[in-house]
Amino acid sequence: MRAAVVTALGQPLEIQERPVPQPGVGEVLVRIEACGLCHTDIHAAQGDWPVKPTPPFVPGHEGVGIVEKVGAQVTAHVVGDRVSIAWLGHACGHCRYCIDGRETLCESQLNSGYSIDGAFAEYAIVDANFAVSVPDGVEPFDAAPLSCAGVTAFKSIKVAHVQPGEIIAVFGIGGLGHLAVQYARLVGAVVIAVDIDDEKLELATALGADHVVNAAKEDPAAAIAALGGADVALAYAVSPSAFEQAFASLNRGGRLVCVALPADGTMSIPIFDTVLKGIEIIGSIVGTRQDLTEVFALHARGRTRVIAEGRKLDQVNEAIAELLSGSVAARLVFEV
Ligand code: NAD
Ligand code: ZN
Ligand code: ZN
Repeated sequence: MRAAVVTALGQPLEIQERPVPQPGVGEVLVRIEACGLCHTDIHAAQGDWPVKPTPPFVPGHEGVGIVEKVGAQVTAHVVGDRVSIAWLGHACGHCRYCIDGRETLCESQLNSGYSIDGAFAEYAIVDANFAVSVPDGVEPFDAAPLSCAGVTAFKSIKVAHVQPGEIIAVFGIGGLGHLAVQYARLVGAVVIAVDIDDEKLELATALGADHVVNAAKEDPAAAIAALGGADVALAYAVSPSAFEQAFASLNRGGRLVCVALPADGTMSIPIFDTVLKGIEIIGSIVGTRQDLTEVFALHARGRTRVIAEGRKLDQVNEAIAELLSGSVAARLVFEV
């Protein structure tokens, strides 16, 4: 099978011919139909984060495909099922986080496309219990971006405990942000979209944003204050300064939800304002299998739109360059 492989951090990926892997106990073999390119895949290939992946590895955690073989003791899926391979490739199932519904905090978790091979390939192996079923009514091309961008945006709105009528500022209208605008609308928020690119802001308006702010042309905190200030600010832009702007845009009692993971990942937040204004700062990491099931169900009911363009796996390095240049409308999806 063909796979896009990171052979050294910071180097272009290589398309390699590899043997089709065989499923072990509790695992399934998935024939990949589509896999989205998340900005996290670029962080992985570049080794941007404190905990680095070990090459060689296959990125890709927005994988969708058909179960082709099941290993021993698999009860969750049968051959022919369409499943998603998301970031949470495995969690222990018995720690305090796994049993109280916070499996994405499991300290023994394995991450697809990072600590285990992901879905930038014709086939991938996944723990059957962590392969989330993709329902009828969700096309694989849409299911791919929903598997990370969708579930992550959805979860970040959940953890902010948004009330209808609150003002949400969405910083960064990329893969995650274009779906966050839609989930924010679904919970009844007034949405202010912030980006540095007018085309992304036009897309945000088309997806239901009430207001847009171009942070390259005006100070977003001042522009948002003029619109009533933000009760919740969601940080999806790969830029520490955008986190600081998101913080500065908050009303008293506001919540800053940190989601993006820029390489120089430090933000400077004034303690005085945080305390006096009663600001909450929240970290949000992907979503659980149940969150993803809810994301798929909403999409099947026609409540969300995925904006994506197809690419071939051979174009992986060009696709990464496109995403970094800011020219991608929202998501690129490899059609395998
Ligand atoms: P993306 O490249 O598709 O989107 C980023 C968007 O931010 C782009 O639209 C870009 O124009 C905009 N932007 C850049 N600088 C800006 C600025 N200063 N102000 C406003 N907007 C700005 O990336 P993505 O795939 O949506 O991922 C975003 C980040 O989220 C990445 O760091 C990724 O690793 C991270 N991520 C986190 C989680 C999680 O669970 N916490 C999950 C997935 C991705
Ligand atoms: Zn991702
Ligand atoms: Zn656990």
